[in-house]
Amino acid sequence: MTHADSAFDNNMSRMDFRPTEEQELLRQSVRAFAEAEVRPHVREWDEAQHFPIEIVPKLVALGLLGIQFPEAYGGAGLSPIDYCICIEELARVDPALALSVAAHNGLCGAHIAAFGTDAQKQNYLGQLARGDKIGAWGLTESTSGSDAASMQTTAARDGSGWVLNGAKTFTTHGRVGDVMVVMAVTDRAARSRGISAFIVERGTPGMTAGKKEDKLGMRASDTSEVRFDSCPVPADALLGQEGRGFIDAMQILDAGRIGIAALAVGLAQGAYEAALNYAKERKAFGASISEFQAIRWKLADNATRIEAARLLTYRAAWMKDRGERMTLESAMAKLYSSEIAVQAADDCVQIHGGYGFVKDYPAEKFFRDVKLTTIGEGTSEIQRLVIARQMLS
Ligand SMILES: Cc1cc2nc3c(=O)[nH]c(=O)nc-3n(C[C@H](O)[C@H](O)[C@H](O)COP(=O)(O)OP(=O)(O)OC[C@H]3O[C@@H](n4cnc5c(N)ncnc54)[C@H](O)[C@@H]3O)c2cc1C
Repeated sequence: MTHADSAFDNNMSRMDFRPTEEQELLRQSVRAFAEAEVRPHVREWDEAQHFPIEIVPKLVALGLLGIQFPEAYGGAGLSPIDYCICIEELARVDPALALSVAAHNGLCGAHIAAFGTDAQKQNYLGQLARGDKIGAWGLTESTSGSDAASMQTTAARDGSGWVLNGAKTFTTHGRVGDVMVVMAVTDRAARSRGISAFIVERGTPGMTAGKKEDKLGMRASDTSEVRFDSCPVPADALLGQEGRGFIDAMQILDAGRIGIAALAVGLAQGAYEAALNYAKERKAFGASISEFQAIRWKLADNATRIEAARLLTYRAAWMKDRGERMTLESAMAKLYSSEIAVQAADDCVQIHGGYGFVKDYPAEKFFRDVKLTTIGEGTSEIQRLVIARQMLS
């Protein structure tokens, strides 16, 4: 090899698609946990719409309730790519549990970690990482989801503190959450620059959880309305600067979307594997259905799309790790991963034939769960809007 060759080789080695040894071990340990402790209960939790609070100590033992929180605040201090691996492996077995872990870590915990004071981080991140408290995050309201800046919930000054009035809809952990980051209007005239974030603890007078949503999928993940009726919060509940709550929330969503992209990749992987295994076992016309080209092409297309989605997702996570802005890349990762996951779940049902339509096989649950990925943390239409805005600006 000439000197020029070796320089070329060194440059090439900078772009390395291989996971590190630690990342391989992380994937193996989360996969082993999901197979042993989650898979046996997936159907029962789904049917009962049961949020599995009993599994929290095991999630804590693996560091899954403080994945990216700094170690100084009791977290596991893992990287954004490590975070994707954890969410992917949970979603491969139970997307609903993955959604809960993502909301706890990537919305509530991440908002406090990014914009909290040292005292807020000391107070809340350790409790969230230890599972002493479950986190929730409330931006969406009944009349404002995609158009979140038009929210109606208000926070008015009252002495040194604030009083919250309004309601948040579709809050993950609205009923089981202990700590909620709530976005509220503090200066209506300033529009999106007049929204602030607050940390509100369960049990605060005037804070009540509404009805539990009876959902199509992700049924083991608790979702409900949360109401605030003259709910007093102290001055130190303000999270970040007054008036910056919406801007900060958009930054949290940029990163949160990487988590939903990882969830979609994991879900698609689970659906693909279920379809592959079934195709190898099922016989028709005297042959395994995996011999038929129609089935093979579906499997090949899904395997290819999942790899592409994973690469887009890891690239966005890698950019986050480098502290780079990744609004465009996280929107692309979320849009593509969720759309291909819908296709993977659809093909999984189709490859199972009639057995894809009954609850004895995992196909129908993937098919129900997957739809959330094109809606939560910004719909596919909103992702396209974000992507186009970035490209045209
Ligand atoms: C299971 C679940 C969990 C959730 N968890 C949380 C949570 O923890 N915290 C939280 O704050 N929110 C949460 N959400 C809310 C979620 O983020 C919103 O549902 C989502 O952002 C869409 O808002 P929406 O439901 O009001 O739909 P809308 O905004 O009313 O959209 C309706 C349709 O119109 C389209 N649309 C809207 N505006 C445009 C536009 N400008 N251009 C093109 N099309 C447009 C949308 O894409 C969609 O197809 C959750 C939702 C679900 C279902």
